Amino acid sequence: MGPPGVGKGTQADRIKKKLNIIHLSTGNILRGEIETESDVGLKAKTFMNKGKLVPDEVLLDIIRYRISRPDCQYGYLLDGFPRTLPQAEGLNVIMNDIDHELDAAISLTADENELVRRLVLRGKESGRSDDNPEVVRKRQQVYWQQTAPLIDYYKKEGLLKEVNGLGTIPEITKRIMEALV
Ligand code: AMP
Repeated sequence: MGPPGVGKGTQADRIKKKLNIIHLSTGNILRGEIETESDVGLKAKTFMNKGKLVPDEVLLDIIRYRISRPDCQYGYLLDGFPRTLPQAEGLNVIMNDIDHELDAAISLTADENELVRRLVLRGKESGRSDDNPEVVRKRQQVYWQQTAPLIDYYKKEGLLKEVNGLGTIPEITKRIMEALV
């Protein structure tokens, strides 16, 4: 977990290599669906372009299908999911059903103004259509309203690892790895 722009994707990519596990980014999965113009993609696009969350049922269907596949049986890292309490509760049900167990929930923390600056820069470099100032602010707002409550949820479950997300990329990776042992 972590607000948009905190470096979830960058860190997930590094951690998956260190732990030799699969990296599942729901943002990437949805962008792939949009590219192939699937039904899910067409539905998701209208939400994503406004910086809003795609409905929980869509995400839970994607995750159930994806983590049940054989390549996930030795472990996986979820990036950008869950993002709401119903998604976290749904994930619990799915993992129970297929006999999986959540080891940890990592929350990357950072200053909001720095994040908006980073994201607008990323938008210019990568051309991601939801990385423009207006949508970026909206995505931050959505994070604090809908996703931040998950921090307490995972704290109560005893799974939360809070990691300072400001610093160099390798420094942050090191902090995450230390938090996981
Ligand atoms: P991300 O790449 O994680 O920043 O996600 C980009 C966009 O995809 C978000 O702003 C949402 O519109 C959508 N999205 C990704 N993951 C989720 C999720 N778990 N729940 C709802 N919407 C999501």
